[in-house]
Amino acid sequence: MKIIMLGAPGAGKGTQAKMIADKYHVPHISTGDIFRANIKNGTELGMEAKKYMDQGLLVPDELTVKILLDRVGKEDCKEGYVLDGFPRTIPQAKVLDEALAELGESIDYAIDVDVPDENIVQRMSGRRACLSCGATYHLEHVPPQKEGVCDKCGNELVLRDDDKADTVLNRLKVYHDQTQPLIQFYETKGVLKTVDGTQAMEDVFQSIIAILEK
Ligand code: ADP
Ligand code: AMP
Repeated sequence: MKIIMLGAPGAGKGTQAKMIADKYHVPHISTGDIFRANIKNGTELGMEAKKYMDQGLLVPDELTVKILLDRVGKEDCKEGYVLDGFPRTIPQAKVLDEALAELGESIDYAIDVDVPDENIVQRMSGRRACLSCGATYHLEHVPPQKEGVCDKCGNELVLRDDDKADTVLNRLKVYHDQTQPLIQFYETKGVLKTVDGTQAMEDVFQSIIAILEK
């Protein structure tokens, strides 16, 4: 089962990807999480990615594609995976397609978590992230048990630099310009499924299960 999560930043891709990964026992692969882990560890890749991420821009395709292809080539991806935040451009999608085609494989579902821009700013300004284990919370919708502390690993929760209001607007623009065309790309391939991402989290998940188990 190879799934791509599409949707604006803050639409709930990561939230749903984690639930899918848990239920179907496939890895959840987030390029954003990979970049953030590299930033935290001070790697060269992290330093390079941060320049773009802090401005709400996309990390260049050459860097991103290499990381993603290395990751999906690992043993734990043999039975499939959920990609969260990749692809984000048509060239990225084409490289992934070609790499899969060489193995005689293809993407099974591209699930677009549809949330209007008006709701996105609220979602992102309320998001709190654990940069240690990747868990995400929301001040109103998914508060942690203890304010500012990750339920899963006990580390500090932060407002991501790129979730600050100015950067969010840039990220939305970048989404519309560069990422939204992927909806048409996967529709043409016949694998696009759209779910209403404004529903409560569990309802969004039920809509996704209904698609995967049809
Ligand atoms: P993405 O991975 O698309 O950037 P996230 O999954 O991190 O988005 O979700 C963004 C924020 O919105 C998080 O704080 C998350 O807890 C919250 N959230 C996710 N899904 C929902 C939902 N269906 N209803 C309300 N809040 C949600
Ligand atoms: P995310 O955690 O998915 O919201 O990603 C955070 C940031 O990481 C994005 O705003 C981009 O700067 C960068 N990023 C993540 N995935 C990609 C990708 N597939 N292509 C380019 N940049 C990415």
